[in-house]
Amino acid sequence: MNNSNASGFEGQWEKRWHPLRREWIVYAGHRNNRPWNFDLKTGGKQSVEYDPGCYLCPGNKRVNGNINPDYKDVFIFDNDHPVVGLNAPAISPPLAELHDGLYKRTAATGIARVVCYDRRHNVSLTDLNPDQIKNVFLSLREQMNFFSEHPAIKSVLIFENKGEIVGVSNPHPHCQIYATDFVFNLFQKELEAAAGWRKEKGTNLFAEIIKAEQADAVRIISENEHAIAFIPFFARFAYEAYIFPKKKHATLSTMTDEELHGLAEVFQILTRKFDLNFKTSFPYVMAFAQAPVDGNEYPEYHMHLLLCPPLRQPGLQKFLAGPETGADTFMADTIPEEKAAELRKIIL
Ligand SMILES: [Zn+2]
Repeated sequence: MNNSNASGFEGQWEKRWHPLRREWIVYAGHRNNRPWNFDLKTGGKQSVEYDPGCYLCPGNKRVNGNINPDYKDVFIFDNDHPVVGLNAPAISPPLAELHDGLYKRTAATGIARVVCYDRRHNVSLTDLNPDQIKNVFLSLREQMNFFSEHPAIKSVLIFENKGEIVGVSNPHPHCQIYATDFVFNLFQKELEAAAGWRKEKGTNLFAEIIKAEQADAVRIISENEHAIAFIPFFARFAYEAYIFPKKKHATLSTMTDEELHGLAEVFQILTRKFDLNFKTSFPYVMAFAQAPVDGNEYPEYHMHLLLCPPLRQPGLQKFLAGPETGADTFMADTIPEEKAAELRKIIL
């Protein structure tokens, strides 16, 4: 066994190759004991600006003993329970390939960070004003600049799990960054789709989708000079929404302050409509879909935000069941145009 690392998590923390799906699975067995901050009695609804028991609030102690600074707005730190790490156990060569290369394993290399949006425990990103949301995006852009230069990093997933229903372990408003040495499946798939479309039609797939949504118009939820949000023709979840900057950027890195402000405005209108539609803080999973940062150029890729709310209505969750989990095929119970119409008629 390789003992060149000090983490002591050999066999519990690694990537394994799935030969049928042709993709990596990350195993992080060492994270089982991570803290759980939700009060099940209140359903996660927060009433206080500061919670002395929250490990993300300013001035509080985290699990590794570090004290959070007295931060005001954005605060970023390395995850104390990382799913990928630069100190993940190395895999010694005899264990890296088994059964004549059928089974492969490699180190869960990467960097995992936490991004707190605001010092206040009881707000969501939607509750901030567009300038404050823009400031969050500016910090994320800075992170992308850092990871783009990092030799160990090939792909970056920025995501927010909002709401207890999607398994968030702490209600304090925050998102996470997983920067990895492999490219995330969806971004790889989208790159292949865009390359195929380019070959067949000679145009950019993302631009064509935006154009089609603008022409159909009925599924657009919010639009300004710099960005557009819509429930696409092909939405899988009832309220699944995409937000695109109008100008093509492979990642956040090249977006201007003005474009990020436009993105923030459109984000806020969309998510306020989510909240107002059912008069609740509407849960979602949000991902920043971005091109790899492996040193190559990806001129075909058009970064965007993908929001997947798990609810069809309060108390009615879309479970990923037979078709979705069993066969990777979505079966939706709602029609995108109907859900878009519902959000479009809400006046802010
Ligand atoms: Zn907090």
